[in-house]
Amino acid sequence: MKRVSPTKPKFQEDWHSKFKWLQKDSETDLLWCIYCRSDRHCKSSFGKTGAKNFKTSALEEHARSVAHQDAILLQERDKNGLEKCASKKKASVDVAIEKLFKCAYFIAKEDLAFRKLESLLRLLRECGVEGLPRMYNDNKACASFILHISKALEAEIYDRLRKSPWFGLMVDEATDVSVTKNLILYATFVEGRQVRTSYLGLLEVEDGTSNTITESILALLKKWNLDVRKMMGFGSDGAFVMVGMFTRVAEIM
Ligand SMILES: [Zn+2]
Repeated sequence: MKRVSPTKPKFQEDWHSKFKWLQKDSETDLLWCIYCRSDRHCKSSFGKTGAKNFKTSALEEHARSVAHQDAILLQERDKNGLEKCASKKKASVDVAIEKLFKCAYFIAKEDLAFRKLESLLRLLRECGVEGLPRMYNDNKACASFILHISKALEAEIYDRLRKSPWFGLMVDEATDVSVTKNLILYATFVEGRQVRTSYLGLLEVEDGTSNTITESILALLKKWNLDVRKMMGFGSDGAFVMVGMFTRVAEIM
């Protein structure tokens, strides 16, 4: 009688979905458990040497084993620890950046040179302030911080201006080394029962003619969605700018 040799158990494709931890090394033809393999103390063949037992029962047995359960728990704990660590790190970076922004704001408010950021930070460190980053301490970083702050403040001030029933504008020429001209803009408006005057920002114009200045200001009002009909006053040191503005606003109205 011919003896039927038992077929060698083979890797079954549905094992992948049934045993999520299972990995097959196609070169060595060994079975590994991803959890147990990363556990240095694991004594199971699935973690230490690679298993040769291609039987569903062996896989089930491994899944039930205490060592396997422990390896999963260990990895979960490490993962959570890492995430906690990462979120802690992010929080400390946020705080550090906030401190830098505050320093840059102080520099701008006190009209100091941007390069003073570095010495200000040094002073704070000497006074025991912790969590100040060593990066972004130079004048370029300071300028960039101030630009971000001014953009945020700009949006805020125009928002307040829009809520006012009327407003007035004042324009002054700023001296600059560049060819283009900069105008300093101020606004007067009502907030609650108070009349307020606030600096709006700098407006770059190509030249100092009445027409260019007038059109630039009107474009700015349009950009911020301000109704020119609510503009009750306009002040400028150049009479010709006043005339130009008066004519154009009268035209619009
Ligand atoms: Zn395992």
